[in-house]
Amino acid sequence: MRIEVDTAAIAANVRALAARAATPVCGVVKADGYGHGAVASARAMLDGGAAMLGVVDLAEALRLRAAGIDAPILAWLHGPGVDFSLAARHGVEVAVSSIAQLEAAAAAGAVIHLKLDTGLGRNGIARGDRAAAIARAIALAAGGARIRGAMSHLAGTSRDADLAQVRDFASALAEAEPLGLELRHLASSAAAIALPEARFDLVRIGMAAYGVDPSGPGAGDGSEAAALGLRPAMRASAAFVDGVAEVGLDDGLLPAVGAPVLLGGELAHVAAVGACSIRVEPPRTGDGVLWGDPAAGEPSADAWARAARTITYEVVTRMGAAGRGAGVVAAGPETAPRRVLELGLDGEPRRLVGELVGVKRVEPGLGVSYGGEYVTTSATTLALVGLGYADGVTRSATGRPAVVGGDGAHPIRGRVAMDQVVLDVGDRPARVGDPVVLEHASAPELTGMIGPRVAVEVAGSVADADAMELLGERIGAALRAGDAVLLIGPLGAGKTTLTRGIGRALGARGTVQSPTFVIARTHRTAAGPDLQHVDAYRLGDEAELDDLDLDLDGAITVAEWGAPLEHALESWLRVEIDRGEADGDDESPRSVRLRGHGPGWDAARVRSLTAPVPTEEAP
Ligand SMILES: *Cc1c(COP(=O)(O)O)cnc(C)c1O
Repeated sequence: MRIEVDTAAIAANVRALAARAATPVCGVVKADGYGHGAVASARAMLDGGAAMLGVVDLAEALRLRAAGIDAPILAWLHGPGVDFSLAARHGVEVAVSSIAQLEAAAAAGAVIHLKLDTGLGRNGIARGDRAAAIARAIALAAGGARIRGAMSHLAGTSRDADLAQVRDFASALAEAEPLGLELRHLASSAAAIALPEARFDLVRIGMAAYGVDPSGPGAGDGSEAAALGLRPAMRASAAFVDGVAEVGLDDGLLPAVGAPVLLGGELAHVAAVGACSIRVEPPRTGDGVLWGDPAAGEPSADAWARAARTITYEVVTRMGAAGRGAGVVAAGPETAPRRVLELGLDGEPRRLVGELVGVKRVEPGLGVSYGGEYVTTSATTLALVGLGYADGVTRSATGRPAVVGGDGAHPIRGRVAMDQVVLDVGDRPARVGDPVVLEHASAPELTGMIGPRVAVEVAGSVADADAMELLGERIGAALRAGDAVLLIGPLGAGKTTLTRGIGRALGARGTVQSPTFVIARTHRTAAGPDLQHVDAYRLGDEAELDDLDLDLDGAITVAEWGAPLEHALESWLRVEIDRGEADGDDESPRSVRLRGHGPGWDAARVRSLTAPVPTEEAP
C-alpha cells in the first residue's frame, strides 16, 4: 500500500477556498492531516494562505511546533490530564468546553477560545452552562486572562438547522460582547463553501482543503469537488499479484466491495476484503490505483466511500494513516486523551480503551453529532469519548456498546466522528476521566486497525514459570543496544524468571539470578551488547543511579522494580506483572501487561512482541 500526497494541490485548494469564502482560513490538520501527514499538510495550507492551523489536541499541536511551524495553532479537545501550561509555553491557543477547562486554561495563561455547543451535542459548553461560563470568562478576563475567541461547530442536519445554530451562536456572541472577542468562528468546509451566514471572522477548513467534497461521496466520481475547483491530494495504490494485494481491514481498509481499482490501464473491482489482503476481479497483476485524481482517469476516493457506505473523510483518514505507516508515538495524558488498543499476547485485539473527555447535562430534543440522527428524549447526560474513526472506531459502530467506568454499557449515539463519539448515559453518574472500553468481542470491526494516535498495549495471562521464561525470550529477541526494560510487580511475580528468558534469547553468559544483593550485574552475551540486570528497589535518587555507572546507551538494561529509572530514560518498555487473586501459589497464572514509552517503543514495535498462538493446521 502506497500513499502519495500532492501538497501543491492542498495549497491550491486552500487558496481557492479562501477566495470563495472571502474569509481568513484556519487549516485543519487533525488526525495526522486526515491521513495526509500533519506537518506536510500544515505547511501546504500555510503556503496556500491559511492564517491559522486547527488540531484536536495539544499533542498534535506540539508536533507541529516541534517540526518548526510557528503559525498560530488552535487545539479544541482535551483529556482530563491536560496541562495547559504547555499550551501557554508553546503558544498554542486552546478552545475550552467546560467551566473547569476555562479555569485551568486561564490559570495556566493560555490564549483561550470559548467552545460553545449550539446544537451538535458533542464537544462544547452546553447551552445550560453558557451564561455561567460567559460570566466567568468576563470575570477572568477582567483579571488578565486572555480570551481571544469563541467557536462552535455545525451539525449539517439541514440548512434550516444550520441557520438556527448560526442564530444561537450570534446570540451567545452578544452575551459575550464585553469580552471584545477578536475571532468568532463557526463554519467548517461545508458551510465555508455554501453558507455565507456562518463565516464570521474565520472558517475552519479540513476536508475541502484535501480536495474532497465535504458534503459526501456524491455520485462517487469526485465531480462535486472538481466543480468547486478542488483537486484531490491523495493517491492510494498497491501492488497486485493475480488480483491480490497485501492490504486489508487490519490496515484500516474499509470493506468496500465493488469499489473500482485502476489496474493495468483498465478498471477492476474489489471482490473481497480480508484482514490482511484485498482481491479484485479480474485478477490482474501490476500496480493498482485504489483512488487518486479522477481528472487523470483514476478512481475517486468518493467511489470507495460509496462502496463502503460511508463518507470520504473516513476513507482517506483511515487509509492514509495506515498506508503511510505513520508510526506516531502515542502521547502522554498531559497532551492527549487516552487512546489504547489492547492486544492479547497472541496479537489478537482485545479492546479499545479511551476515557471520558466531557460530561454535560443537556435538554430534551437535542440532536447528537452530525446529521442529528439521535435526538435526546428527556433531560439527560451526554458523555464524550475521545476516540473516533481516525482511531479505529469505524463509522459503522453507531449503536455498539461502550462500557463506562467498569459498569454500565451504553450504545454509541449518533454518528461516529473523526476523534469523538457520544454516549447518552441518562441519569447515571459519569465523570470526566472515567475509563471507556469497547470490547473487541462485542464489536470486532472496531479494533483491528491501529490508528496513528493510538498506543498499543499487550496484555494477557501467563500460565506458569516456563511460559514466563518463554515470554522473556520473545522480548529478548526484539532487544537491541540502548533498550531498557523496566519490570514492575510484587515479590515472587516472576521478574527474574522473565529476565532469564531475555538472557537466553541474548545468549547471556553466566547465570541470570536475582540481582538483589549486587544491585547490578553485567552479563556478556554471545555476540551483541551486554545485558545489565539491575535491582532498582533501593535506588533512592538519581545520584545513586549515577553511582551504578550503567551503560544505558551501549548495553541492554533490564531493571527489576524499575520505575525509578524512568527519569533517566527517553524510551523504555514497561512490563507489569501481577500475581492476581491466587496469592502465594508460585505456579499460579500471572497477568502481564507490556507498554511502550517514548520514541524507541512505538505502537508497531510493541505489537511486534506478540506472537500468534500455534494451531494444529499452521504450516
Ligand atoms: C474537523 C473539524 C473541522 C473541519 O471540518 P471539515 O468538515 O473537515 O472542514 C472544523 N472544526 C472543528 C471543530 C472540527 O472538529
